[in-house]
Amino acid sequence: MPKIYFLDVTNRDGVQTAKLGLSKLEKTLINIYLNEIGVFQSEFGFPTTKHESNYLKANLELAEMGVLKPIRLEGWLRAIIADIETVFKLVPNIRHLNLSISTSNQMIQGKFQGRKSRDDIINDMTRAVDAAWAHGAESVGVNAEDASRTDLDYLLKFGKAAKEHGANRLRYCDTLGYDNPFTIYETVKALAENVALPIELHCHGDLGMAVATSLAGAKGAIDGGQDAYINTTVNGIGERAGNADLVATILAVTKSKGFAGTYQLGGSIDLSKAWKIAKFASYAFNVPIPRNQPGVGANAFAHESGIHADGVLKDPENYELYGFEELGRGEPELVETGREISAGEYSGISGFSHVMGKMAVSFSSREEAQDVLELVRYANVEAHKPLVEDELLFIAKYPKVARKLLTLNPLD
Ligand SMILES: [Zn+2]
Repeated sequence: MPKIYFLDVTNRDGVQTAKLGLSKLEKTLINIYLNEIGVFQSEFGFPTTKHESNYLKANLELAEMGVLKPIRLEGWLRAIIADIETVFKLVPNIRHLNLSISTSNQMIQGKFQGRKSRDDIINDMTRAVDAAWAHGAESVGVNAEDASRTDLDYLLKFGKAAKEHGANRLRYCDTLGYDNPFTIYETVKALAENVALPIELHCHGDLGMAVATSLAGAKGAIDGGQDAYINTTVNGIGERAGNADLVATILAVTKSKGFAGTYQLGGSIDLSKAWKIAKFASYAFNVPIPRNQPGVGANAFAHESGIHADGVLKDPENYELYGFEELGRGEPELVETGREISAGEYSGISGFSHVMGKMAVSFSSREEAQDVLELVRYANVEAHKPLVEDELLFIAKYPKVARKLLTLNPLD
């Protein structure tokens, strides 16, 4: 039976959200946490964008070192030859790509405004897929942008052309969050049956249904005989109303009525990392986790009213669908209420050594400590806020990789 995989797009859709962004070190930490939670693939950035190059190369190096393993790192670009050429010039070692092009009449008329016909779209896409293979890609996904507003006949034609040119997956983009669970199920099932490629579900929350449509789309893919790859972002951060939230989608797939028993995950998911990744993304994006967010919100396991409190004390299952421990919650967290020394862009060696010493990190020499401090200063310049422990530990452990991903060369 086909299976469900998670493909997180926080480092692409998440960071392209208006008014929000992540530093290159924060993006790297997100990849590390996604790997720990068991996500199959991270869409780790924009390989045609110059300021991403060093970050992307540094993360590919981490993959080679076994730090980012088994997660697959994939870059997002437009399905045009020029982008493929730029990608392999800027990031020669990239091996996994998703190529995106709009397929709906709305976009063809409204965005391309007569410059491209429907046939041109398919031509651009197939030529880009061919070029990706020719440059040494190992996996190629093809994204139909605005698929939910594209008529099915054309979508089938587009998908079949992608398959003929060897694409590994077809991404069904509900770009505007227009689908509902019923419509996406039918469309995706038809795509899976007729195109015979694994289907990615890329759903947005403009109508408040991103998780529900992702689940229904995954069911459609599997019922149509194909694997499903659900696109998520951490805390649902993404364009406008956002994407399907990673943790909520994992919970929906594994806990909702009748679903887990019938539909299975492709890899093992370690839900106990949920709390850590949600909290980090909240800090890094500077977007608080809503109190009522599934699983990781402050009220997800809070009970006050008499009947509920009494019920949950007698047996948690009376009013809780899953336990907080499963999500890695419940450990006490230390909050400094007295003197505090933090490491920032103007820190000196003494304060920095104190901070690292508190995490039981010691350096072999003063020079080594100075080198790491210098990198920490640069990381602070980019992040504009104190680094979290895992960021400091990362820099201390992989200073060479950190140096690379903190290097921005606009004059090159
Ligand atoms: Zn999107």
